Amino acid sequence: MFNIFENTDENKFSWDSIGDVIDGRKNLGEEMPVFVYRLFQFTIKDELAKRFGNETTIQIFRNAGRLAGIEFANHMLDLDLPFNEFTAQLQKVLEDSKIGILRIEKFDAETGEAVLTIGEDLDCSGLPITGETVCNYDEGFLAGVLQVYTKKDYIVTEIDCWATGSRVCRFEAKIKS
Ligand SMILES: [Zn+2]
Repeated sequence: MFNIFENTDENKFSWDSIGDVIDGRKNLGEEMPVFVYRLFQFTIKDELAKRFGNETTIQIFRNAGRLAGIEFANHMLDLDLPFNEFTAQLQKVLEDSKIGILRIEKFDAETGEAVLTIGEDLDCSGLPITGETVCNYDEGFLAGVLQVYTKKDYIVTEIDCWATGSRVCRFEAKIKS
């Protein structure tokens, strides 16, 4: 039986899948409004939830986010930088890409645990307040970036979100034991 958790297939996605946007969109360019991104994401989420239920949909978003984070780190970031320079670079790339404004609230060099916030988050800032954290894609994305940089398996959990009434999204990152 088809099992979506069984990730036996190789990823079909690679950075090249994004294509040459500059060549392909000579007049319209690389940018588009945030509502287009959200329209795409939230309608996909809706359709997945109808077919597979909420929990599975959350897992799918986390897994997709992790794949995105891994590819993003490998293609957009200099992984040889020391930690402080690496996080400064990550902040700049996330801001330049208009994904959000990253802050590192806490980092424990011994345990590898971190608390990160993202302000003006692409996925959730301005959403109606539902009381639930919704940035599962971001959880996976941050875990993927940390995994590539540290070569350790990270679990990232969102503890505050615009959708829970917070002004920033706050994420706890822990190395998987
Ligand atoms: Zn959020």
